[in-house]
Amino acid sequence: MKTDICSVCGSSKIMHDMRIVDFGHGNAKNDLSIEIKTTDRLLFNNFEKGALKAQICGSCGKVDLLVNNPSDLWQAYLKAKAL
Ligand SMILES: [Zn+2]
Repeated sequence: MKTDICSVCGSSKIMHDMRIVDFGHGNAKNDLSIEIKTTDRLLFNNFEKGALKAQICGSCGKVDLLVNNPSDLWQAYLKAKAL
């Protein structure tokens, strides 16, 4: 849930929707993501992905992680559990 008050220190210096990147080959930036495999094939499986976004407190450094597509991930999670 988005909030404007830090749950740890009560500060209102909250930075929203901060991208979290991983540096891949040749310093290519990739969004750190949740990945759920929704098919159980040997090759060419389908995946549901959700990029992680961070809310960071500018006072104490508390970081909260969010995804933008929680309902899509939930559906994929249910599907994956049934495989
Ligand atoms: Zn804080």
